[in-house]
Order: sequence, then C-alpha cells, then structure tokens
Amino acid sequence: MRTIGLIGGMSWESSIEYYRLINQQVRTRLGRLRSAQLLMYSVDFGPIEQAQHLGRWCDAGAILADAAGRLESGGADCVVLCTNTMHKVAEQIQQAIGIPFLHIADPTAQAALEAGVTTVGLLGTSFTMEQDFLKDRLKTMGLNVLVPDADDRRVVHRIIYDELCMGVINETSRLSFQHVIESLAAQGAQAVILGCTEIGLLIKPEHSRLPLFDTTELHARAAVTFALGQ
Ligand code: GLU
Repeated sequence: MRTIGLIGGMSWESSIEYYRLINQQVRTRLGRLRSAQLLMYSVDFGPIEQAQHLGRWCDAGAILADAAGRLESGGADCVVLCTNTMHKVAEQIQQAIGIPFLHIADPTAQAALEAGVTTVGLLGTSFTMEQDFLKDRLKTMGLNVLVPDADDRRVVHRIIYDELCMGVINETSRLSFQHVIESLAAQGAQAVILGCTEIGLLIKPEHSRLPLFDTTELHARAAVTFALGQ
C-alpha cells in the first residue's frame, strides 16, 4: 500500500472527514481491520484564512508548500490538499515536491461526467465560485459550470467560514443552501458540486433536489485508489 499525505486543518472539521472516509474506503476495499497508511500535516488555519482575505496567496502557498515537503520527507507517496480553496496555489505546492499532487477537481469532474452530467452548479467559498482556478479545471475536463448570484454567493461564503468551519450545523443555513440549490436548478444546473470540503457536513443527498458531487468524498476515494493502485 502506498502512503497518503494529507494537508489538513482548513478546516479541521473537514480533515476529520477525510480521515474517516479514507479509512472506511480501505476497509470496504480490502476487508476487516484493514486501514490506510497515511500522514497528515495539519496547519493552523488562522494565518491561512487571513492571507486568503488579504489576497496574499503566495504567503499561504509557502506554508502549504512547506507542509507538502514535510509530508514527502516523512514518506508520503502523494499529497492530498484537503480544501478546494487552497487549490488556488496547487502549482506552488506541486513545484515543491517530487511526488504526485492529487488535484481535487479531477475525480470530481470525472464523477460528474461518468454520471452523464454536463452542466453543474458550483458551491464553495467566494474565492472558489468567483475565481478561475477550480472552474477552469472543471471546464477543461468538459463541464459547464454555473455559480449562484452575488447575494447567494455571499450567504454561502459566510456560512462556510462562520459556521461550518467552526463546527456549527444550523437548520436555517441548510434552508438557505436549499434555496441556492433551487436557483442553480432554475439556471439549468443538472447537479451540484459541493466545492468546499465542509458543505457535506450540512447538505446530504436527501437535502438536495439535484444530485450532489461532494469533493471531500470524491477526493478521499481518489486518494485510496492511488494508495491501493485499484
Ligand atoms: N475547506 C474549504 C474549501 O474546501 C474552505 C476553507 C478554506 O478556505 O480552505 O474550500
């Protein structure tokens, strides 16, 4: 089995999910008492979040590139960055290491395309919904990507940072997300990408009229496929 290197902490509420999902997948695929060989380097999200909101991506990228290097030195065979937003600096991280960087957009787009979906709604932080780093990769793989309008994007962004990253699950916020999903459906989305690793804590398939592609789940599964070579 190859060793998975996780960069976590952004937020740790979703890093736990990666740890759980990866181990569950290994047990499902290999059987009783089997679990993943992995390392996690978990950062302090405070300075990263500050850098994001100040537009100092390179500073945040340097912290994550250093984390990736530590994982490689520790024996990791790949790096999995447990957040969509920080894929903004994917290139900076990849350049710091000699092992594969498993990009979160790839298994996500692949799953949507395999399900016959061509137009997706993307939910995530404002950075993810408004900038091109993730959308472009999804588009290059063949998807049309829709995002909510400005008011809805503000609501989604606020709920992610003020609630989900703080471990707060709120019924009113679930209703807000459901309203945003309805608007995406009205725009023509056939499915929704949960493009923030905490959204799956709030929105489960039964809460959504549209099929969901949860980046946390799909990324975790891709890590296991890499580790097991199957
Ligand atoms: N985990 C989130 C994401 O997937 C948001 C937190 C962050 O900004 O990294 O984008």
